[in-house]
Amino acid sequence: MHLKPKIAVIGAGLTGLTAAYYLKKQGHNVTVFEKGNKPGGVIQTHTENGFIYESGPNTGVLGNPEAVELLEELHPLCEIEVADQTAKARWIWKGNRWEPLPSGLFSAVSTPLFTISDKLRILAEPFKPKGINPEETLSQLVMRRMGTSFLHYAIDPFILGIYAGDPAHLVPKYALPKLYNLEQNYGSFIKGSIKKAREPKTEKEKKATKEIFSVKYGLHHLIDALVTKIDPVNIILECEQLKVISNGENQYSVSTGKESLSHFTHVISTVGAHALSSIIPFANPDDLNQIAKLKYARVVQVSLGFNEWKGQSLKAFGGLVPFVERRDILGALFISSFLKERAPEGGALMAVFMGGMRRPEIAELSDVQIVSIIEREIKSMMLLKEFKPDLLKIHRYEYAIPQYGPESRARLEAIGKIEGEYPGLILAGNIRDGIGMADRIKQGRTVAEQISGLLFA
Ligand SMILES: Cc1cc2nc3c(=O)[nH]c(=O)nc-3n(C[C@H](O)[C@H](O)[C@H](O)COP(=O)(O)OP(=O)(O)OC[C@H]3O[C@@H](n4cnc5c(N)ncnc54)[C@H](O)[C@@H]3O)c2cc1C
Repeated sequence: MHLKPKIAVIGAGLTGLTAAYYLKKQGHNVTVFEKGNKPGGVIQTHTENGFIYESGPNTGVLGNPEAVELLEELHPLCEIEVADQTAKARWIWKGNRWEPLPSGLFSAVSTPLFTISDKLRILAEPFKPKGINPEETLSQLVMRRMGTSFLHYAIDPFILGIYAGDPAHLVPKYALPKLYNLEQNYGSFIKGSIKKAREPKTEKEKKATKEIFSVKYGLHHLIDALVTKIDPVNIILECEQLKVISNGENQYSVSTGKESLSHFTHVISTVGAHALSSIIPFANPDDLNQIAKLKYARVVQVSLGFNEWKGQSLKAFGGLVPFVERRDILGALFISSFLKERAPEGGALMAVFMGGMRRPEIAELSDVQIVSIIEREIKSMMLLKEFKPDLLKIHRYEYAIPQYGPESRARLEAIGKIEGEYPGLILAGNIRDGIGMADRIKQGRTVAEQISGLLFA
C-alpha cells in the first residue's frame, strides 16, 4: 500500500470537482488545477434584475444513481430542484406552428409530426432484424428501423436538444449507448423499452428517476457546495500555462506557469480533446492527434428575460426546431415555466440556442446580427408583438458539446494506450463516457473510486 498518495486533478469543472470531492472524502491528498479564474467550468449562474439565468447547462437528467447520490450528499449546501411536471410537454416546430411531441399511444397515432406510412412502420419495428454494424450512424439506424419523418421530427430535434448535433455524424454505440444496447440486447427499441421497464430494479437503480433537475437558485450552488467540501485551499486557479511532467516511476509534477508542484502519484485530466496535447506533451503525438479529432459543436446560448410576458403561453419544457424546417434557432427552453423564481412574477426567462454542428457559422455573427435573428424568430415563433426583453445575454462556446462520431473507437483506443504507457495518468472529461452532467458526475466518482481501489488494494 502506498502511504502518501498525492493526486492532481486538471480542470475545476463538474467532472474534476466531483472526482476531487470523492477523493477528498476518501482521505486523499488532492489538488485541483484550473486555467480560469473561478471554478465550475461551463457551469456558471448569474443573477440580474430579478432573473437567475445560466450561461452553460440549464438542467440535467437524473439518468444514473450517482448524480442523485451526489446531490443527496451535498444537501443542505445545495438543494436539488426537480422540473415542474405540469410543464413537461416538449414542442416540435413543424410548418408554422408548435406541435407537442407525442407522449402516449393516442397522441402518437394522431400527431401530424409523422407520416401515416412511418406510423405503420413503427408498429412493425419489433419485428425488424437487429443491426450488425456497430459503427453505423444514428441516421442510418433510424432509417433502418423507423423512417424519414421519425428521423426528421423526433430524433433530429432530440439530438439538437442534447448534442446540438447531427444524426448523420453521431454513432449510437458511443453517443447513445442505452439506445444502442436496447436494439442489441432485446432486438428492438419497443420490445427493449417494455422489457426493461418490467425488469426488477435494485434500490440504487431506482434512484435514477430520469427526472429533469437543476439546483435551487442555480447550478452554481452545486459548484459552490463541491468547492466547500474540497476546501478552496486545494484548488489553484489561473493556471494558464499548465503542463504535466512525467518523471518516470509513476511520479508526476505539475507546472502552472508560476510554480511547480511535484510527487503526484496520479493525475486526472478532465480537459477537452483540443486542450489535452498542451498539458501532456510527453504523450505519443499520434495518440494525441487521434484524440484531437473529436469534433465539438459550436453553440450560442441567448438568455432572454421579460418582466412581463405578452407572447403565447409557455407552459412547456421547451420547443425544438428540426433542421429540415430551416429556421435560425435550434430551440428554446422555457426555464421559468419549470424552475421556480428564475424570473419576476408574471415574467418569463428562456434560453435560446443557435449554431450547432450544422450551423457553425452562426457563432461568428456579431451580437447585433444575433439579436436581430432572435428578435425575428422569437416574435414569429412565440407570437410576440413587441420584442423588448428586460434581459438579453449572449454566450458563445467554440467547444460546447463533443460529438461521439465514427472516430470514437480509435479515440478510445488512443486514450487506453496513453493510460497504459503512463500508469497513474487518467484521461477523463468529456472525451469519453458521455456529455451530460449526470455522466460527468458518474465519471468523476468512478475515477476517484478506481484510484482508491488501487491504493487500498
Ligand atoms: C452551452 C452548454 C449547454 C449545456 N447544456 C447541458 C444540459 O442542458 N444538460 C446537461 O446535462 N449538460 C449540458 N451541457 C454539458 C455539461 O455542461 C457538461 O457535460 C459539463 O458541465 C462538463 O463538465 P466538465 O468538468 O467535464 O468540463 P468543463 O466544464 O468544460 O470543465 C473543464 C475545466 O477544465 C479547465 N481547463 C481547460 N484547459 C485547461 C488547462 N490547460 N489547464 C487547466 N485547466 C484547464 C476549463 O477551464 C474548465 O474549467 C451543456 C454544455 C454547454 C457548453
